[in-house]
Amino acid sequence: MKEPHIVPDKPSVPVPYLHYEDKDALNRLTAYNRTVLGKRHARQCGCFHCGSRFRADEISEWMHEEDGDDTALCPYCGMDAVVYGTATFPLSTALLSQLYMSWFEEEYRERQKRALLIPDYSNKKTFLQKGIPFLLKDERFVQFVDEIELMPAKIWYYLQGYHAYAGALNNSVAKFEGKNDRCLVKLRAFTDVDGCLRVDITNSKEGHLPFEPSTEGELRRVCTLVQQYGKELHGVIEDRATRKMKLYVAREKA
Ligand SMILES: [Zn+2]
Repeated sequence: MKEPHIVPDKPSVPVPYLHYEDKDALNRLTAYNRTVLGKRHARQCGCFHCGSRFRADEISEWMHEEDGDDTALCPYCGMDAVVYGTATFPLSTALLSQLYMSWFEEEYRERQKRALLIPDYSNKKTFLQKGIPFLLKDERFVQFVDEIELMPAKIWYYLQGYHAYAGALNNSVAKFEGKNDRCLVKLRAFTDVDGCLRVDITNSKEGHLPFEPSTEGELRRVCTLVQQYGKELHGVIEDRATRKMKLYVAREKA
């Protein structure tokens, strides 16, 4: 499979709301489409299996159908999931994202479970517009750089600049450990009000986590990595009860 060609939507491109019948109608465009796609070579097409965008004349493989016209195969992933925009639903990455999550639901859920690296997005809208469902990266796409252990933060400094003592955090530590899914985090180094170096650990859904590296040595290692990789550094807490965090960066493209 070729590296998919995903083109994020501009923020002004609306995210379509798709009813079941709409998804069904768009899915029907993927079959018996050789004649339709042959009429306009420059027609913009997209694949809702890999999220790639391409022109109709970039399609070179067709699946022979016994009962009708040939079916286009995606020039990037080879799947028969090629669609084009309609009057009601112009082609967009948000459209492809939604069709992927619906028609390849099982694959999408499986990838979500295995994902070690998820590109940044700010909300559901940008999640779809950037094609994040196509960009979830499993262990094949990341480089392991370090592993550290976490402990409940003794003093928890909030971004707003005030702090609370550990006692106030028991609930959130318990809440965090009460879940059993893998937790993906981003890391940021900062200097607290006492001038001490600290690390802020954040999950996109759960917010700032009430943990910090358990030793001075680990703290220094994390800070060095944050300095080296910046936003490219990702943390993964595989098993919440062990409080072990693995650190990854995206693997260089071959
Ligand atoms: Zn594809």
